[in-house]
Amino acid sequence: MGLISELPDMAMPLKDGSHPCLILNADYQPLNYFPLSLWSWQDAVKAVFLDRVSIVEHYSQEVRSANMSMLLPSVVALKDFVPQNRSPAFTRFNLFLRDGFSCVYCGNDDELTFDHVHPRRLGGQTSWDNIVAACTKCNLKKGGRTPVEAGMVLTRAPAQPSIYELQAQGRRFPPGYLHESWLDFLYWDLELQT
Ligand SMILES: [Zn+2]
Repeated sequence: MGLISELPDMAMPLKDGSHPCLILNADYQPLNYFPLSLWSWQDAVKAVFLDRVSIVEHYSQEVRSANMSMLLPSVVALKDFVPQNRSPAFTRFNLFLRDGFSCVYCGNDDELTFDHVHPRRLGGQTSWDNIVAACTKCNLKKGGRTPVEAGMVLTRAPAQPSIYELQAQGRRFPPGYLHESWLDFLYWDLELQT
């Protein structure tokens, strides 16, 4: 915070939200997949100056001050490894990610929505172990019934994933795949109601 003001005469021709920088942990995996760890270019430049990160890739866009110029980093890696032992947030995105962006009943990947395996009318909770990704078709077919009642088979038993499991899944959906959806993260990161 405030680094740019500590860098005298740094020209700021860029919009604040432009040129986000992907943050990798010291093992070169994204620090977070979901939300994807991104910094503003200002914070990325700050971290470079504080010697906290190594530049992995950069944009062609330059920033200049009176004494220096640098290409804006697009990917940086932290020099100190940040241990990751927290539980993943119960968000739409993480839930879809856990289920590989496909319906747990039929495997389809379009028109995904959420399904309460044990229906709400029977007291089913909105939780990691009762919510699955399902296509709209299967969701409508199942209605307010249990899978057994509906004659439908879950291909995966829902459970809270570890951050490592989500990260492994995240590698199937690398940042390039997600780039256009960054703007949607405000949506994706909403905590599901419990
Ligand atoms: Zn389906």
